Amino acid sequence: MFTSVLLSISVIGSFAQPQDITPFERSDGHATTTYFECIEYFSQLARQYPSIQIEEIGPTDSGYPLHVVLFNYDERTGSQSESKIKVLALNAIHPGEPAGVDASMMLLRDLASGKILGSYSRHISLAVIPFYNVGGGLERGSFSRANQNGPDAYGFRGNAKNLDLNRDFIKMDAKNTRSFVHFYHRFDPEIFVDTHTSNGADYQYTMTCLDTHPQKLGGSLGQYLKEKFTPSLFESMERKGYEMCPFVNVYGKTPDNGYTQFFDYPRFSTGYTALFQTLGFMSEAHMLKPFKDRVHATYQFLISIIENGAANKEEIISIREKDRLDILEKEIYDLTWHQDLSDPDTILFKGYEASQIQSNVTGGTRLKYHHDKPYESKIPYFNKLIPDASTRVPEAYIIPQAWEKVMQYFSINNIVYTKYQADTLLDVEAYYIEDFKTYQSPYEGHYPHYNTVLKPIQIQIKVRRGDYHVPVKQKGLRYIIETLEPQGEDSFFKWNFFDPVLQQKEHFSAYVFEKTAERLLIEKPWLKDSLDQKVRRDKDFGNNSRAQLDYIYRNSEYFEKSYRLYPVFRIFE
Ligand SMILES: [Zn+2]
Repeated sequence: MFTSVLLSISVIGSFAQPQDITPFERSDGHATTTYFECIEYFSQLARQYPSIQIEEIGPTDSGYPLHVVLFNYDERTGSQSESKIKVLALNAIHPGEPAGVDASMMLLRDLASGKILGSYSRHISLAVIPFYNVGGGLERGSFSRANQNGPDAYGFRGNAKNLDLNRDFIKMDAKNTRSFVHFYHRFDPEIFVDTHTSNGADYQYTMTCLDTHPQKLGGSLGQYLKEKFTPSLFESMERKGYEMCPFVNVYGKTPDNGYTQFFDYPRFSTGYTALFQTLGFMSEAHMLKPFKDRVHATYQFLISIIENGAANKEEIISIREKDRLDILEKEIYDLTWHQDLSDPDTILFKGYEASQIQSNVTGGTRLKYHHDKPYESKIPYFNKLIPDASTRVPEAYIIPQAWEKVMQYFSINNIVYTKYQADTLLDVEAYYIEDFKTYQSPYEGHYPHYNTVLKPIQIQIKVRRGDYHVPVKQKGLRYIIETLEPQGEDSFFKWNFFDPVLQQKEHFSAYVFEKTAERLLIEKPWLKDSLDQKVRRDKDFGNNSRAQLDYIYRNSEYFEKSYRLYPVFRIFE
């Protein structure tokens, strides 16, 4: 009796058990955990606390599985009770930026032991992916983050395939991404956090915050994010002594004259989760602050996110449900945007004065921030977007069964579709890819296309048994449109999924086609007229026999119709 009282006092008094102390804490903030220590630690926590579970949720490119650690997860139904708000945190997408890994180890321990959050902890269901880029995490060293202040050793940015996983959420080249996406839909969080460390400019803040672009998130949730959630997140951090500014999206110069909000396309974590009405945040701890401070700031950031979510859970859940219904009524969908540089907000910025001084290395000048000259100043923050290209939302897309990778991706993303049971003729809207540009060097394993120009046409197609019919009015509406519309910022077309249609398969031999061309010009006077006009207008063309024959060929029935015909078709009611 006497012993048990003493024991319970000691548990309440200290919360953390000796075996719960993290490598970060043991090293007084100099070390970050290894992947293996991290998984072992959470396995131990799960044995110790019934509220914690650890689960493997799929493979990664490294050969090791991806883990998730769950707090307050309702195992009986495999889903959360509606009264809890679901928060998903992702760490070590860039293992050289591991503050969130160590912060989450302390956070889950302190949540489970009751040290933090008090009654709020009952209102949340938390899922933490403790170590996302396992392959990068195994490549530990002390030099790959040349501009960063600790920890002593850390992982590498590229994953086992040298991919930056924070560009992979649409193209899903990594197994890590496919495992993540599968779990993301199973958990369906209202709030998502991805923890990072910054690159770029110097300033006073230890923590900066990158929220998903409210305009791109759109709907009532976008407005709620901008007007309520983000301001109260900033206030909460400030109360705890971690004043933040919006992520400083500036490289190679100072932020003194203002900066633009980072635009998180769907290839990025928060841009992807925004497609499914999730409030997304990246914590960006400042690279030059000591690692110990960065971890504590990230720990507090995660607590503020959870508290803010728990305190407003009914409002967030109901706005999200409303937006998910509202989006089904959308008739026009904005695909591309540019920054509005005419109408910035104003923010108070706490920076350091900077100047150009003589370089001791290059003979030129260099930028130097003066830590002895801190300043506070109001600067413009360009956080508004203007839409460019948009599209009319179709009733459904038709996708021939040949494009199976697209359908695999749709399945992982819970997109609902049916297969045609019989061959059918259908009137559809199709696109010819009239023009596009392509990256000249590889980017994340691809040569992406951009500046895509489309020519819509109305045609009849032969749909075959087994081809796919994808209705647009469903929960994944935004994902479907963003990936299938070729002009989308991160469309499958852009990421080279449809490159085979960009190559001409048949050609002509001039000596044979000459005779056919002669006949075509007699049969089609309009073609002769247009050829003559082009010869008069364009001197090079007039001197190039091959080009003239090719012109006739392209404007005749001999030219293949599938060349540059985008093989996904749109139908309207
Ligand atoms: Zn990062």
